[in-house]
Amino acid sequence: MNKCIWCNKEIIANCSVSQLLTFKKLDPQIICEDCELKFDPIEMTKCCPNCHRKQMDQLICQDCLKWQKKYPSYFLKHDALYSYNEFGKKWMERFKFTGDVRVAKMVAERLSKAIKRHKEVDIIIPIPISNKSFENRGFNQTEILLNIAEVPFVTILENRSTEKNQVTKNRRERLNIVQPFFIKSELKDSVRGKNVMIIDDVYTTGRTILYAVECVLSGGARKVETLSLFR
Ligand SMILES: [Zn+2]
Ligand SMILES: [Zn+2]
Repeated sequence: MNKCIWCNKEIIANCSVSQLLTFKKLDPQIICEDCELKFDPIEMTKCCPNCHRKQMDQLICQDCLKWQKKYPSYFLKHDALYSYNEFGKKWMERFKFTGDVRVAKMVAERLSKAIKRHKEVDIIIPIPISNKSFENRGFNQTEILLNIAEVPFVTILENRSTEKNQVTKNRRERLNIVQPFFIKSELKDSVRGKNVMIIDDVYTTGRTILYAVECVLSGGARKVETLSLFR
């Protein structure tokens, strides 16, 4: 009997007659129904079309209007899987800060499917964390997510930030950070003419991801799309 990765409750296999008739071996369930329902998948009809922020309509949100002014030549087209609700925050806490990386399996399949929907992408780049965060945490959470989702990626960017952790920053401080990213010198030409997808764990203000976009565009990328697990 499988146990739910999140709550450790035993999972009662929920197998339909039609599934049984196909005689295919089913993937073992790793998350119980109750826990699955705690995630809040973003619906296309109820979010900002540019950044996938959850809302009641499909109008471009205030955040995106500000970014359009700041980056008039870049059209933000951000994809996100789940809204960052209370459970999302708890999930990130357990995954990223207590280091229980097994829980990444709960979102792996959905993440891999979402990335595969972007068919024109040549290179996938995870947002890098600073050396300081790496020393503290011991892993880059976005790289772990991609590894567990079996999505190939290249670590072209580096993060030179020496500032305090993003989590402890308020909104204004987050918006005021300076460009932390640069392309590794030995990989300088690796994005030239390519369609790039940048992946992050959480899109909060958009500041981080847009710096990464800026960096990759200045490296000659043809097109840049972005995606995060939470928005
Ligand atoms: Zn559960
Ligand atoms: Zn938006």
